[in-house]
Amino acid sequence: MTTPFPTDWRTALVLVPHPDDPEYGMAAAVNRWTREGKEVIYVMATSGEAGIEGMPPEKAGPIREEEQRRSAAVVGVHTVDFLHFPDGQLTNDASMRAAIDHALERHRPQMVITIFTGEEYAPGIRNQSDHIMFGQAVAETMEDHDDQWLFETSPNGEYFVEVTDDDVEAAVASLAEHEEYLSVLDPDTPVIEQARNQVDMSTLQDDGSRRSIFILRHERTSA
Ligand SMILES: [Zn+2]
Repeated sequence: MTTPFPTDWRTALVLVPHPDDPEYGMAAAVNRWTREGKEVIYVMATSGEAGIEGMPPEKAGPIREEEQRRSAAVVGVHTVDFLHFPDGQLTNDASMRAAIDHALERHRPQMVITIFTGEEYAPGIRNQSDHIMFGQAVAETMEDHDDQWLFETSPNGEYFVEVTDDDVEAAVASLAEHEEYLSVLDPDTPVIEQARNQVDMSTLQDDGSRRSIFILRHERTSA
């Protein structure tokens, strides 16, 4: 956590597998970027339709898309696309990479941020297969894209974005928009409290500062 995150970009594409992925790792940084006038777009591989226990996918998908749109708007993101791949069954295959390529063509970002692809968040806490598969598909698709940065969110990493208390509050409000999802996930803890705990976990550093942390996957070497 020693290198400031690059600022030489106008448009960032956040390419992740599920609704709520941006909120767990980077919404505070996104809020900072949009308030500074940058454009941030979210593209999600799935609608997170398998993510609400006890609810059929055809009902959960539209609810989660709606919650994601509201959540994005809180941190200044007004374009949210869903690619409708099957939640929980993502594979790094040609059709996935073609869909990622299409999203990159359509939005032409200078900055791309995807999800953490490491095997474990912490010792014994395994990452999800969808995250690893999708993040690797993004990295493979972008292998020769030397005019675009590629970062991953990460619990630990070299690159950081310093965020303010207001950015943190926006990130908490943004995650709390996943109301139906969070209230089923943990019925005993109020949604706003769950959101605050998660955002604290991802932004609060040992020295008391607030930062969003990223790993560099792929450097931008030409404009
Ligand atoms: Zn996810």
